[in-house]
Amino acid sequence: MTCPDYKGLMMGYLDDELDEHQKKKFTEHLDQCPDCQNELAEFNELKKLADEAALTEPQDELWQHYWKNIYNRFERTLGWICLSVAAIILLIYGGFKLIGEIIQDPTVDVVLKVGLVALIVGLAVLFVSVLRERLYLRKKDPYKDIRR
Ligand SMILES: [Zn+2]
Repeated sequence: MTCPDYKGLMMGYLDDELDEHQKKKFTEHLDQCPDCQNELAEFNELKKLADEAALTEPQDELWQHYWKNIYNRFERTLGWICLSVAAIILLIYGGFKLIGEIIQDPTVDVVLKVGLVALIVGLAVLFVSVLRERLYLRKKDPYKDIRR
């Protein structure tokens, strides 16, 4: 066998896929051939890099995905909280102002006054109810966003 023949065995040797006979012949040649020794070292280096890449890449992606999810959840929670606070303030402030004005206005019919008050109170109650439901679901199912 000549050097190029042994080079054909090199990848098999690195992957430990040679039979005992091939392995023996290859290592025997390797002992007396610096050329093949160098090449084996280079192959080994390449293989190590390839193995490392294969190991680290999916893990990096996993971590990126993980952090993206955490961030998304944080972002959505923050957005939801800000929106809720703003809505509650506007609803209560606007609602009370409107109720006060309507009730003090002698030209507005009593029935209309009662209707408007009921409408605003109803909206506020519904809003708080939906908010509580959302917060409850969020607490109960913390991995909802990750699964999605
Ligand atoms: Zn050789």
